[in-house]
Amino acid sequence: MEKRLKIHLTGAVQGVGFRPFVYNVAKKLNLKGYVINDTYGVIIEIQGEEKNINQFLISLQTEKPPLAHIFSQEIEELPLTKFKDFEIKSSKSIGKKEVFILPDISTCEECLKELNDPKNRRYKYPFINCTNCGPRFTIIEKLPYDRPNTTMKKFKMCLECESEYNDPSNRRFHAQPNACPVCGPYITLYTSEKRLVSEKQQALKDTVALLKEGKILAIKGIGGFHLVCDASNDRTIRTLRERKKRGEKPFAVMFKDINQIKEYTEITDFEKAIILSPERPIVVVNSKEGTDLSKEIAPYLNRIGVFLPYSPLHYLLLEDFGKPLVMTSANLSDEPIVKGNEEAFEKLSIFTDYILIHNRDIKNRVDDSVVRIIDKKLFFIRRSRGYAPLPIKLPFKLDKKILGVGGHQKNTVAIAFDDKAFLSQHIGDLETVDACKNFEEIIYSLFELYDFKPDVVVSDLHPRYYSSVWAKKFAKENNIPLITLQHHYTHALSLMAENQIKDEPIFAVCWDGTGYGEDGNLWGGEFLISDYRKYERVSHFKYFKLIGGEKAVKQPKRVALSILFEIFGKNLPTIPTVKAFKEKEIELLYKTWQKGLNSPLSSSVGRLFDAVASILDIRQVLSYEGQSGMIMENFYNWSIKDYYWFEIDKSIDWEPIFIGLLEDKSNIPIKITKFINTLAHIVIETYKRYGVGLKLGLTGGVFQNKLLTEKILRLAEKENIKVLLHKKVPTNDGGLSLGQITGWG
Ligand code: ZN
Ligand code: ZN
Ligand code: FE
Repeated sequence: MEKRLKIHLTGAVQGVGFRPFVYNVAKKLNLKGYVINDTYGVIIEIQGEEKNINQFLISLQTEKPPLAHIFSQEIEELPLTKFKDFEIKSSKSIGKKEVFILPDISTCEECLKELNDPKNRRYKYPFINCTNCGPRFTIIEKLPYDRPNTTMKKFKMCLECESEYNDPSNRRFHAQPNACPVCGPYITLYTSEKRLVSEKQQALKDTVALLKEGKILAIKGIGGFHLVCDASNDRTIRTLRERKKRGEKPFAVMFKDINQIKEYTEITDFEKAIILSPERPIVVVNSKEGTDLSKEIAPYLNRIGVFLPYSPLHYLLLEDFGKPLVMTSANLSDEPIVKGNEEAFEKLSIFTDYILIHNRDIKNRVDDSVVRIIDKKLFFIRRSRGYAPLPIKLPFKLDKKILGVGGHQKNTVAIAFDDKAFLSQHIGDLETVDACKNFEEIIYSLFELYDFKPDVVVSDLHPRYYSSVWAKKFAKENNIPLITLQHHYTHALSLMAENQIKDEPIFAVCWDGTGYGEDGNLWGGEFLISDYRKYERVSHFKYFKLIGGEKAVKQPKRVALSILFEIFGKNLPTIPTVKAFKEKEIELLYKTWQKGLNSPLSSSVGRLFDAVASILDIRQVLSYEGQSGMIMENFYNWSIKDYYWFEIDKSIDWEPIFIGLLEDKSNIPIKITKFINTLAHIVIETYKRYGVGLKLGLTGGVFQNKLLTEKILRLAEKENIKVLLHKKVPTNDGGLSLGQITGWG
């Protein structure tokens, strides 16, 4: 029996070799009809024997190209017609744009083989790609994803490239960035004063030679420039830190291949799989002792962020250099990653003497993603290249179009309609004029790509965040409602949305650095019972004073001192915290503390970590946000089960915990372990007091701490408590924009 079906697929189905795949399957099954891209996805009509049609439907799901994500499939049966053959029709563009933009994907195995094959016409060509790999989001200017709508439009394909591009049986059929050494982009090496050094293959050789001399180079990549240098050269990395004004924050390191990573780090099979995944994130793993990697890469940490080459240029560089390379985003701290060639000469000459550019423009700047493995699951520290801007499925359908502008640190924004939220790439801390400009640009480019106009805009409750101020202005100008949401409630919403929670409330533990509270204080140690409409703050850590406000955020010794004043008044014990101040300073700070001058109240668990770090003399002043907790992770010991005494209450007092810590005669690793264990027990006990029957959720930057999170999971398991964790968006403020779009009312 013959049958004719019309199939409508939506999702990430364009630019992934989907049409040639459909073509080949249809041909094989002797089906007639056509496949066409439309602005919603792909439309297929097939006619033929029923059993072949059924087989076709199965193949669609089971054999689809690796990068294709099908989100929905609608099938309708139509009366038989007369098709001559099966054909791929050219795209049409109508109606609303709903096709997903694909992220940039690392070079595939087949392209790699060609890259290394001296007989191939793309031998050592740094821009080799096909429908299974290569740049996508970073080169797209508008939808539909066709060459004239990308930054590849200025390169006219040579005859050979064009015939690949037009051949449905070719791997490069409609590969929009298709190129070769004859017709495509190329690399050029310049001095930072813009003097041409060399181009193409010679530029690659010169670059490697300069890296071997210990030079720092700026190298244009997929989503922006990197600053690159030898990962075993202490002096060079120190210079890089000085120039970048980057105290002790760790650098990521790129390795030649997975075996080289294994020489330098201890990785589990799961970590290996993530490192090798086509998204190629930076994965934080345990480093090995006694390798030649410079200690300057990740000072005081026993972990390191590693990744593999993801562009052909990286492969060529790493192959020729042979050893690991530091690869860090090329920017001044808190500024967006540099993406343009002119911009590079303007801004990067302070870092480097040489700049390796290429002439394929980057439209959308995208930083590398950073992940770690917690409880054998992928955990985002930063969701960016390789993942953004794929949508996140919501547990419900929205009847309005919503824009969430995120928070202040690690900012991301999100737009949402129907049952999808599109989170932007990592934007970063909105601390500089350029960062704020970038924030605005990314919002407008999301609007443009998705033909989006919000009905509602949602921001953080904090009145002075740049994002909040911008949202207020935007709402007024566009005459749409503005909704402000409390920071920690937003963390909870984000966790609920990505875990497909529908209408049940959850018990959310929201711990982070700080967020603006409803009472004007700086919250950060919160226990909320929350649903999509409201939340109740059932408990929180007792407030303490942050002496000097912002200063206390950067100086753990000030937080510890405040806590010591609270416990001991003026009669302080002689411990490292106290020794870190001059006597006069302490007197002055005591008065400030007593009067509460410029000393906002806070319940932040991030700051409690800081206080412990100061008391144990691990860190008195921070070089970067979250450093104290990160160093403390080094010392955690699973065999220690003890913890300090505490009491569950509406306001959880930290005093007994600190007294326990100060009186404890154990060594530092044991004390750290006991402190982390205490926090884990507090989560469980608070839940048992206030949250029984609900799901327990962990959210906020503090839960980037692998050991704390895993300890809580172990305790919860014993008690049969179901725990919700983030797995699609960061637990830190990078996940706030998702919460915002679900909590708008
Ligand atoms: Zn490929
Ligand atoms: Zn060509
Ligand atoms: Fe937060």
